[in-house]
Amino acid sequence: RILGRHHDDKRPTGFEYKGVRFGQDTLNVFAGLCAVDNPTHVEQMMKALADNGQVCTRMGAYKPRTNPYSFQGHGASCLPWVFDLAGKYGIRVIAMEITHDSHLDEIRHALEQTGSPTGVMLQIGTRNTQNFELLKIVGRQSEFPVLLKRGFGITLEESLNAAEYIASEGNRNVIFGLRGMKTNMGDPHRNFVDFAHVPVVKRLTRMPVCIDPSHSVGSRDRGPDGLLDVQQVTAQGIIAGANMVLVDFHPEPKKALVDGPQALLLRELPYFLEDIAIARDAY
Ligand code: PEP
Repeated sequence: RILGRHHDDKRPTGFEYKGVRFGQDTLNVFAGLCAVDNPTHVEQMMKALADNGQVCTRMGAYKPRTNPYSFQGHGASCLPWVFDLAGKYGIRVIAMEITHDSHLDEIRHALEQTGSPTGVMLQIGTRNTQNFELLKIVGRQSEFPVLLKRGFGITLEESLNAAEYIASEGNRNVIFGLRGMKTNMGDPHRNFVDFAHVPVVKRLTRMPVCIDPSHSVGSRDRGPDGLLDVQQVTAQGIIAGANMVLVDFHPEPKKALVDGPQALLLRELPYFLEDIAIARDAY
């Protein structure tokens, strides 16, 4: 495998994009909106990130939904103002899911049109992990790095092969995302949290590994010790060696159009970042 690692492989891992370094030895936080809803919320989010020294975010414009009647994302229409606001607040990289090759052109066009200095990390979601034609398309371009989420109902090996589809077409700037697995055992969480696989993926491949505590846990509920589940599993993932955290925040979770119950509040951002720094020290 191009992305594979041998036990004595000492080559440096990862890549740099928009002045941000991604590797198996770095840690980047992508806090942001699961779905872009309106300019006010996007601006509040970006301002909170800038106030807390953050240069990366997540912003969903194209939302693959289980229910066809649920909000599907604003699509191309929101891209110009999202990129303008990102530029205004010094956001350098936005993780944004795409589900079709036409989205790639729409993103390129909006970046060109706005002249925003911000960059995009293309996210391939768990429902498209084995959409091989889409994987080949993002693999054939080298302009944007790719965050590939593991498939929630396939083996780890199959998901690693999906990453290899991207690399085999030429794009080696791939980050592997863990986002929980589906089980039929009625777990307390939305998905079975799979962050024990962080060191496994780092041992088997040269990819930086991302965790998505929000989609793994599915709710921001406080446990009996007063800590948020999302925060606790984030710490577990960081201690296991995660290199990137993709996490949902929202200025008003009750008004969020997608996944509000799992979004953390903006006032929790500094504490969330502090917890991450403590967990990182423990790694
Ligand atoms: C997301 O990150 O917005 C998302 C839908 O994630 P997943 O593909 O892991 O469900």
